[in-house]
Amino acid sequence: MVLIERLNYLGGNVSRFNNYFPKLCPPACGLEINYSRIRSNPRISYHTGASVESICGSDGDFRVKISVEPRLINNNCTSCGLCAEVCPEERPQKLGRKAGEKAAYINNGLAFPMKYCIDPLVCKREACGKCLEVCDYDAIQLNASPAEVELQVGKIIVATGWILYDAARIENYRYQEEPDVVTNLEFERMLAACTREKTKLTRPSDGKTPRRIAFVQCAGSRDVNHLPYCSAVCCSTSLKHALTLESEYPDIHAEIFYIDMRLSGRNEKLLKQAEGKERIALTKGKVGRIVQGEGEANLVLEVEDISKGFRREDAFDMVVLAMGLTPNHVAAGLKVNKYGFYLPEQRAGIIPAASCKRPMDVSSAVKDATACALKAMQR
Ligand code: SF4
Ligand code: SF4
Repeated sequence: MVLIERLNYLGGNVSRFNNYFPKLCPPACGLEINYSRIRSNPRISYHTGASVESICGSDGDFRVKISVEPRLINNNCTSCGLCAEVCPEERPQKLGRKAGEKAAYINNGLAFPMKYCIDPLVCKREACGKCLEVCDYDAIQLNASPAEVELQVGKIIVATGWILYDAARIENYRYQEEPDVVTNLEFERMLAACTREKTKLTRPSDGKTPRRIAFVQCAGSRDVNHLPYCSAVCCSTSLKHALTLESEYPDIHAEIFYIDMRLSGRNEKLLKQAEGKERIALTKGKVGRIVQGEGEANLVLEVEDISKGFRREDAFDMVVLAMGLTPNHVAAGLKVNKYGFYLPEQRAGIIPAASCKRPMDVSSAVKDATACALKAMQR
């Protein structure tokens, strides 16, 4: 079995989560055992930084051409971190990215493979070369070039996953104008960075601790102007975030504004846990727009509180948009539904798995991927 991964580490979005439902486990719970299985099974190999160039052949006899971007650091790397210590170049700051991350970096504490890599867009290569001087393992290859690999396989499982809907397209939520309006994925990575580095959660705009954080549900989802479908995981995600704040940040109040709480299976428990918590408010009402207010809590939400029957304007320090999910497409030529998700039935031998077919949570994605692997094993 060969895993082809576009990023330079396995584990996708989940490996960068703070925790995941229903049990609010850290991502290590589940991922580590799978990494260990991959490491110890000689029949599993993987390519990171890889993308599919072409697929030809048919069920039972496919030939897949992939192009593999170099990591600029080879497998000799022991992840000692000396290259990052001496590297003078920093990667651009992003929410949830470690401040001051260098051109030579490792993705996260759970990175698999646990090897450093070099950001080719930031590295000065021969004009610098400081990392070459400190690496004792001959691991750095600043001149490595992309490689082409051809694989011969019987079946192809497509598991390209999801990406967030573009928050900038919902203009009334001012994502582009206000640094303290963040997406739920950015917030997840901020929480993960706080856990990893044992730091406090702060507002992007001024580094102060937020006191009141609003969660705006259905940001993009269930909206004919954006995504007409329910994204299935955003209600559970906001409840999870509110519960994390409640247990770890005693000075922060969270309020979730929702149309309906849509939860399935064991995720129902999250609602039960959140109800009645003093520092979590659940308000039924769709946020119309976010405007700039005055003072420290300067993000004013205009919302109709449906259960109380009046229009509210309330100020918050930070706003988290519970963004809808869209399919992450990297495989061309497959059949999609009207929203762009892959149809389960494709030409023989090609099997789409998990959240590239519809939005789903981690636990459902694992079950679906297992079913797809079993299907691929049928002759
Ligand atoms: S590339 Fe070399 S210096 Fe950098 S972490 Fe790996 S072994 Fe250490
Ligand atoms: S060559 Fe690139 S990765 Fe190495 S120290 Fe210089 S900037 Fe950093």
